[in-house]
Amino acid sequence: MKITKSISEDKVEAVKQMIGASRRIVITCHKTPDGDALGSSLGLAAVLAGEHKHVHVITPDTPPKILKFLPGAENILIASRFHDRAKHLLGTADLVFCMDYNAPMRIDRLEPLLMESAAPRIMIDHHLDPEDFTDVAISNPEESSTCALLYRLLYQMGWSGKIHAEAATCIYTGMLTDTGNFSYNSNNPDLYLIIARLLTTGINKDEIYNTVWNTNSVNRLRICGFAIYRRMILLPEYSLALITLNRSELREFDYIKGDTEGLVNKPLSIPGIVWSVFVREDDDGFVKVSMRSTGEFHVNTICEKLYGGGGHCNAAGGEYHGTIKEAVEKLLGYLPEITSELEKTKE
Ligand code: 5GP
Ligand code: MN
Repeated sequence: MKITKSISEDKVEAVKQMIGASRRIVITCHKTPDGDALGSSLGLAAVLAGEHKHVHVITPDTPPKILKFLPGAENILIASRFHDRAKHLLGTADLVFCMDYNAPMRIDRLEPLLMESAAPRIMIDHHLDPEDFTDVAISNPEESSTCALLYRLLYQMGWSGKIHAEAATCIYTGMLTDTGNFSYNSNNPDLYLIIARLLTTGINKDEIYNTVWNTNSVNRLRICGFAIYRRMILLPEYSLALITLNRSELREFDYIKGDTEGLVNKPLSIPGIVWSVFVREDDDGFVKVSMRSTGEFHVNTICEKLYGGGGHCNAAGGEYHGTIKEAVEKLLGYLPEITSELEKTKE
């Protein structure tokens, strides 16, 4: 069985040429980077470093601690801390990769730096509705992760032999995190062909699983326990579970970024719950919203409509500028409008 060549040969050739013609390469990914954003960026960086390119990975903000084990993570430049350096690197780059995002607004304050840079841009992404801001867009919303898409690209370039253990660890991590350890969006047999090839580089898949999914701080366990016990409400008439955490609750548990990762998925294990919403008051007047769903009930459109966000059909997010109470009221006020949509999922 062979891996399907899903990327057009023209694009593969274009990427090859653009890499060949450049020396200083910058790789960017979306804000609050996850396993897929960081895995695809660092995986690509490792391969390009092997080609003797000067490569820098720039993230808009600080990556979660749990992903620090990724090879190369120690060299990431965080733009929110080192703005001038990020500006300089983007300004002097001769090629920029845009990994795991479909619109410049997803990189936050890096956006003007990217748009001002004269370097050509290549997008590798799997979000719906990519915006037209790159020279070559390798975008496939059917792909379960940007990491899998990156593997396909390298494979079609004839570069899979250049993926050594470090890059393979990064690529595998993104494939793992964007599919919930291969529990959703993971029926494509190609994924397992890719994993088999990654394993031959010597990566330790079990160790990666344990590091990513099986590592909890005490605070993280407690905050998730509290959230589910005390702050989850079920609205069975809307097949909805809603969890909220406000500033003082987060402070009480010494919350640090990443502590509530995966929490929003938990209520989906309750029979009859089709979608789950997690509303977290990250700052005074700033609320982060995460949504997950199963099957044909799509939450990206809801995130877009209510919270100026987006994402995938079954995993999306957005933001609200105002109080957490207002953010929740906005959702509750919208519920009657989606009754018919929910009915369809019950048919
Ligand atoms: P999470 O709930 O894990 O923060 O995000 C899940 C997915 O939703 C992400 O992979 C991303 O595609 C999307 N997403 C999260 N927050 C936002 C947002 O503020 N804007 C947009 N456009 N997408 C988001
Ligand atoms: Mn992704």
